[in-house]
Amino acid sequence: MRNDFLPFSKPSITEEDIAAVADVLRSGWITTGPRAAQFEEAFKRYTSCGEAVAMTSETSVMHVLLRALGIGPGDEVITPSMTWVSLPNTVLLFGAKVVFVDVDRDTLMVTPEALEEKITPRTKLIVPVHFAGAALNMGPLRAVAEKHGIPLVEDAAHALGTEWNGERIGSKGTCMFSFHPIKNITTGEGGMFTTFDPELAARVRSLKFHGLGVDAYDRQTHGRAPQAQVVEPGFKFNMPDMQAVLGLRQLARVEELNSKREALALRYREKFSGIGEIMPLRDPDYKFKHSWHLFVVRVTEKARVTRDEFMAELKRRNIGTGLHFRCTHLQKYYREALGYREGMYPNTEWNSDRICSLPLFPDMTERDQDDVVDAVKVVLARR
Ligand SMILES: *Cc1c(COP(=O)(O)O)cnc(C)c1O
Repeated sequence: MRNDFLPFSKPSITEEDIAAVADVLRSGWITTGPRAAQFEEAFKRYTSCGEAVAMTSETSVMHVLLRALGIGPGDEVITPSMTWVSLPNTVLLFGAKVVFVDVDRDTLMVTPEALEEKITPRTKLIVPVHFAGAALNMGPLRAVAEKHGIPLVEDAAHALGTEWNGERIGSKGTCMFSFHPIKNITTGEGGMFTTFDPELAARVRSLKFHGLGVDAYDRQTHGRAPQAQVVEPGFKFNMPDMQAVLGLRQLARVEELNSKREALALRYREKFSGIGEIMPLRDPDYKFKHSWHLFVVRVTEKARVTRDEFMAELKRRNIGTGLHFRCTHLQKYYREALGYREGMYPNTEWNSDRICSLPLFPDMTERDQDDVVDAVKVVLARR
């Protein structure tokens, strides 16, 4: 057994990353400025998106987006229950209705067929999630959204570097990314909005900073033009330079970081190939490139140990795990205030009770991974 605890995720931070942040701290300008602008430019180059707007988290991107689209009471937003609670919560905070859609049982992704069934005349936005680093089936999903004339925005929190059918996520449409410390690159906390719609981008840019009419950083005054005026009430979600500089450095390494994740993930698959007690997610059957944000397994009936026991037993052996995700519709508030019950989204619930994310991060060694594999085998053999 390991002597030290292996976390399920850990950001890859180099001495150069630390020095770059320290340089910004010493520079006299630590909030949004030249580094944030450079990070947006670098993000544009990497994803080939039209415009990129950096914010303090993906959740803040969601607030700005819903405001920009004018979503409120009487409107419906379609998203999976198998997601992080950010978007469902934000929809509720805006007084709109969340319409959950069940996911494919083995990829955990929204299918075009399931999506279309949920569309009503009140649907104002569709937000599917690229799950674990694999890609949604974007072509058919876009076709459904276009047929009904409803905006589709991709939750790309797991999908930096992911490709669908040869297109990098971000290179088409409108997307939201996260730089929370468990994501493929981090800024501590942070998020990015990308789009090809210049009007939407301008509105988002303004709304993320008090709703001011201008956004440009002025080198002479080291700030914004003092005469900037509020054109509509906005939020305060701008990404500071001390974070953006970390994003710049991390983004320069994203391909290297993702390929380390991939090597580990493929090695897990190989090591677990004969083990029926745990079932990894299945690859979608269309062309895509994985960014390996998470390595998710389902603890099946064969294991004779529940998922919660599996996680607790691994923890006892100094192996950390994650749960991505406990379904949203059965969380306390959603059950009690909104009346959701078990049985409404069968594939989501089946997975919610069985999924577990095993340790996967770029600086994890094969030896660390062998410890995970050994501990998993011991836990599954115990009963
Ligand atoms: C992490 C995550 C978010 C939220 O990102 P933040 O930057 O923490 O706000 C949203 N959706 C999914 C699917 C995520 O995994």
